[in-house]
Amino acid sequence: MDIARAAKYPFLKESAATLKATGVSLDQLMTGMAYESARLAGKERVVEAFEDAVVGDHPMRTQADATKELLSYPVARMIVSAVADPGFVRRYAIAEAKKANERLKGESDEFVMGVASELGLDVTKEDGVFGISFSDFLRASSGMRSKSWKLVNQRIVDGKVLVSQARLVRIVEAALTDKISSELPLPVNDAILDRFGQTVEELRAAIEERRKEQRAEGMEKLSIVRLPPCMRRLLDMIRAGENVPHSGRFALVSFFHTLGMDSQEILDTFSTAPDFDPSKSEYQIKHITGEISGTEYTPPECSTMRSYGICFDPDDLCRDGAVKHPLNYYRLKGRRFRSRK
Ligand code: SF4
Repeated sequence: MDIARAAKYPFLKESAATLKATGVSLDQLMTGMAYESARLAGKERVVEAFEDAVVGDHPMRTQADATKELLSYPVARMIVSAVADPGFVRRYAIAEAKKANERLKGESDEFVMGVASELGLDVTKEDGVFGISFSDFLRASSGMRSKSWKLVNQRIVDGKVLVSQARLVRIVEAALTDKISSELPLPVNDAILDRFGQTVEELRAAIEERRKEQRAEGMEKLSIVRLPPCMRRLLDMIRAGENVPHSGRFALVSFFHTLGMDSQEILDTFSTAPDFDPSKSEYQIKHITGEISGTEYTPPECSTMRSYGICFDPDDLCRDGAVKHPLNYYRLKGRRFRSRK
């Protein structure tokens, strides 16, 4: 495979062989003056994945450009491995796979089938239509939200799901995301940590910063507009360090969890309490969200909240008869809020 093509699809076995054939050792790539631009390109690749959720297109006008681009792939993988954050590994894998998707759209059917086959997908082509095995289709489409990916909406012939080239490329993208995610993080030695230490620290800080912003956004949506009065009071009490009965903590955590907040996000919303004990709170939260107990609890309905004495400050919406459950209040309030906009 020529270097430019290998650089476009660096995850293929043939590309790895092309990389090996350049004769550049890991040590040279890490320390050699001649490879400074490849190291910078690797860093850029990771930053693009973080910021844009897709790896960028870089001009490959010369053999040297293509070699640099090819070498940037292992550099990027080393940086991502050193950051060692599972969420970020996934984001990087998605960004690489998305770029591969864009590029594969311009390739021949045979090339796309070759890539699919290397990723372990069972694909055939007959009369210009691709067929993919039932199990491969189910695995790849499990993460697709659009109804058009539902099995009931597919044409199935002889155990194969018939798909267009664009759909096959999308399935390849999903399989490639899984492959790259499963390969990382790689073990990293001290030389790699020394070389990319600053970049790794910057990325970790940026990841943490983004997570904080996302949590704050999620909390804002929940707390300002739509929280029922009982949950608002319970949250205020916890944040003020007041004594909240177990039933109140249980109701609040299960309420937040049902609305899609994860354990860390819930923990963060409680962290302003003066007596905040992270490990105790974390255990309680993870028990209620099912991470420890294996059971995901749902919040109690209003009648139960009343019997526990934690139906605090019911307002007009609570009293108008439609609210039987705090989640009900949350949804109704959302609808009324939207209809006023
Ligand atoms: S009526 Fe229901 S939603 Fe309203 S405050 Fe009481 S428990 Fe909460």
